[in-house]
Amino acid sequence: MRGVVMHAPGDVRVEDRPDPRIEQPTDAIIKVSAACVCGSDLWPYRGIEKLAGATPMGHEYVGIVQEVGPEVTTIRPGQFVVGSFWASDNTCEICRAGYQSGCVHRVLMGTVGTQAQYARIPLADGTLVATSDVPPADLIPSYLAASDVLGTGWFAAVAAEAGPGKTVAVVGDGAVGLLGVLAAKQLGAERIIAMSRHEPRQELAREFGATDIVTERGDEGIARIKDLTGGLGAHSVVEAVGTQESMMQAIHSTRHGGHVGFVGVTHDVALPGLELFGALVHLHGGPAPVRRFLPDLMEMIGDRAINPGRVFDLDLPLDRAAEGYQAMDERRAVKTLLRP
Ligand SMILES: [Zn+2]
Repeated sequence: MRGVVMHAPGDVRVEDRPDPRIEQPTDAIIKVSAACVCGSDLWPYRGIEKLAGATPMGHEYVGIVQEVGPEVTTIRPGQFVVGSFWASDNTCEICRAGYQSGCVHRVLMGTVGTQAQYARIPLADGTLVATSDVPPADLIPSYLAASDVLGTGWFAAVAAEAGPGKTVAVVGDGAVGLLGVLAAKQLGAERIIAMSRHEPRQELAREFGATDIVTERGDEGIARIKDLTGGLGAHSVVEAVGTQESMMQAIHSTRHGGHVGFVGVTHDVALPGLELFGALVHLHGGPAPVRRFLPDLMEMIGDRAINPGRVFDLDLPLDRAAEGYQAMDERRAVKTLLRP
């Protein structure tokens, strides 16, 4: 089969790779309908995260089940399924508490490489959620968004306790930040401030429910959030970047007693103890337990109540994956969809 392999920073190739096979009795093999390039794939692409040799890429996926192992009971060949970037059993104590990304049996899908024609999904019964019918083609991008960026933005908004009567600020205008705006809106937030200096992204943020746009960053950005909230700061802040500046911007944009939901994969972030102590905020975040939210998100997508697939602004055949990485790296694209 064809699949994406990253050989070195900036060097992405589509190559022949071995077809995946059932390895564990709980595995499923899916034919990938669509996959995509994640913001986190840009860390190794930019050389910030070290690659351990040639690496198959991709951890977001939707597809049709081809084959299941002998111990798989709920997932069947022919079903259209969505899974997230951590495979999980969905039965252990951590999963039952809603933290499937911390499952005691978790498997990181990045090690599987879903930017390919086929993929092996471990713990298929726990990981995959099936639709009742194969959905129409125009809904594929939205289901694919549910696999990571929507689920992650949703978790960030939940972790930040976005809800009725709340003012929510969102730091980061990538796909996760934009879908954090959508989540805050759906969760009933009263006011949603998107922090973005890029006009097309501001427009999408407004379409998803942002009521205000702040273009400033750092201390100026924090001052603008304070201006807009009677000097107090936002109740809820979504952090969807993962840098020192964005994390401190999120913490200091939050009012005393408020909540920060952080989901940007952090790189070299060190929180100064005294600033953290003085901030008097709740911090909750990490790798999103997307599986917790998948059934509800997939129902909303099927009902066309939300359209998170709007974040894909570049749609390419798998063989042109390198162009998709480049466009995201240069911020010409928010998110690239790849069709095997
Ligand atoms: Zn588990």
